[in-house]
Amino acid sequence: MAQSGEMILKLLKEMTFLEAFFLFLMENLAISLLSILFGNVFVRLYPSRRVSILPPPVDSKEVLWVSSTLLLNTAVTLAGLFLWRNGFIVFRNVWGISVLIDVLILFFVMDALMYILHRVAHISWIYPFVHKTHHLYENPRPLTLFVLNPFEALGFGALWLLVLCVYDSSWIGMSIYLILNVVFGTLGHLGVEPFSDFWIRIPVLRLFATSTFHAQHHIRPSYNFGFYTLIWDRLFRTLSPDYEEYFGKISLEREEEKKYFLRNSGK
Ligand SMILES: [Zn+2]
Ligand SMILES: [Zn+2]
Repeated sequence: MAQSGEMILKLLKEMTFLEAFFLFLMENLAISLLSILFGNVFVRLYPSRRVSILPPPVDSKEVLWVSSTLLLNTAVTLAGLFLWRNGFIVFRNVWGISVLIDVLILFFVMDALMYILHRVAHISWIYPFVHKTHHLYENPRPLTLFVLNPFEALGFGALWLLVLCVYDSSWIGMSIYLILNVVFGTLGHLGVEPFSDFWIRIPVLRLFATSTFHAQHHIRPSYNFGFYTLIWDRLFRTLSPDYEEYFGKISLEREEEKKYFLRNSGK
């Protein structure tokens, strides 16, 4: 295993930047397609567990944003290659328990930093330039994960590269973290809740982000800023107060809209 790792690293060290661009473009395209494909499988598997109303058909703007995110993610991967070749990013070629430690460190450090960055992105004068694009899509679908303003895509990419510059992870630990990142991103934009109601009663697991958790953020953007866990939202009191009550259900706002309508129509 360590030998095949060495081979991959050697290949990455010797290829031209143009070759690397096409390789990373294909890699990012495959990741996006797999996320959208698996996401849609879950949407079809759990039609009765909708946590947001059905979004309208995909529009051309959405496809443009997704294409720009694909190109920018490829640029971030290329920048990572440049930093690695010049010694700013160092990967340890190890296996075993230290890989697990790397995954845990990257997962929880990125969770904390992305919570902060997400709160910053919601500051009123920053929001329109950076994060509004993602929130134009109030009812998420798997594609929405990649609907990002270029500044947002580059901001998250820069944060990730900065963490890699500071922390020398094993390359396998980094790869596992990246898979988890896509899994949580996909989960958050399903629009359906694949976990049963029992999930929120399981100790420890109930602290991890779910589809309901992020769908509620799309409806009510002042709550649920976390990406992988609920830890920071609980700590800073930004967790939606009815997260558990509405777990696996369409959010409270939709219910309130319904009540408001009934009140004002005299029914
Ligand atoms: Zn989202
Ligand atoms: Zn947001």
